[in-house]
Amino acid sequence: MLELETLKELLTLPRRIVITTHHKPDGDAMGSSLGLYNYLIQKGHHVRVITPSDYPVFLQWMPNNTEVLIYPQQIELSNTFIAEAELVFCLDFNALNRIYEMGVQIQESPAKKVMIDHHLEPQDFDDYRYWSINACSTAQLVYEFIVQVMEEPELINKDVATCLYTGIMTDSGSFRFPTTTPRVHIIVADLITRGAENWKIHQLVYDNFSESRLRFLGYCLLNKLVVLPEYKTAYFSVSAEELKRFTITTGDSEGLVNYALTINGIKLAALIIERPDTVKLSLRSTGDFPANEICKKYFKGGGHRNAAGGQSDLSLDDTVLKFKEILIEYKSLLIQ
Ligand code: 5GP
Ligand code: MN
Repeated sequence: MLELETLKELLTLPRRIVITTHHKPDGDAMGSSLGLYNYLIQKGHHVRVITPSDYPVFLQWMPNNTEVLIYPQQIELSNTFIAEAELVFCLDFNALNRIYEMGVQIQESPAKKVMIDHHLEPQDFDDYRYWSINACSTAQLVYEFIVQVMEEPELINKDVATCLYTGIMTDSGSFRFPTTTPRVHIIVADLITRGAENWKIHQLVYDNFSESRLRFLGYCLLNKLVVLPEYKTAYFSVSAEELKRFTITTGDSEGLVNYALTINGIKLAALIIERPDTVKLSLRSTGDFPANEICKKYFKGGGHRNAAGGQSDLSLDDTVLKFKEILIEYKSLLIQ
């Protein structure tokens, strides 16, 4: 691994830079990417944000969102930018398989790769690394990178502050997860001082849903929630037909799994959803229960201890059966 001081040095001259983030980008993925973008362009760099897939409408308002390329929609142009880049920043993921076909292009690019991330077990594909699992979000790390490594807090303007606030807010569960340390509150206070309109950002992200999304939520809560008190577990399984019926699009199912965790005494929550190409699982847990272990061991995935994801090649119903069988193995941990 190279020293961050050399990266700082590299960034003193205008560079061709690509910023990318994980598949189905969330608030932290987009907030950290556009936050870094809005910082780097002030230094005269030629920067492109390229996402490996589309992302929800409620994340499409951040400053310079119109500059983002969505890889599957502009493959050739994206490949050119990646091949010609001198630096590629990889934000909010740490394994190249999280960005699908783009991973191959990035691996082959002569660009130096910079990982800024807060997930467990980073893979070795990077040249520079700014990584900590103690950060509540990658946006927090981008803030620290600008302030501590680059020593340019004055470049955190309103646009940068707005994007970073969004990343921190969404990944910390609106400042309530255990990763929300005093330092996070100090950072957030600084971002508000620098122009982030906190009340407006909350509205744009959380009060920006379609009617069908709200009706879908109601339908799932009433008809699809399964509670297994003997395992302190609650889950939803949703079929492709149901997604179609409610015209559910990217991001519309985000947050649903958290409702299962709001039930008193529930330690593990799951959303099992039938996507066109795979069955996707989202797991959430409380306390020490390792949701990521289940995803890694049984569903080709991973993530954080309390928020993890994966996929299954089985049918929706068989995936649910498999999930229930796994609960038997974890019963003693669950009912502790
Ligand atoms: P979500 O359930 O919101 O899709 O993801 C929750 C967390 O698990 C996120 O931090 C995400 O990065 C991680 N995650 C989701 N899906 C996968 C996956 O397929 N592989 C890995 N390694 N992590 C995942
Ligand atoms: Mn994140």
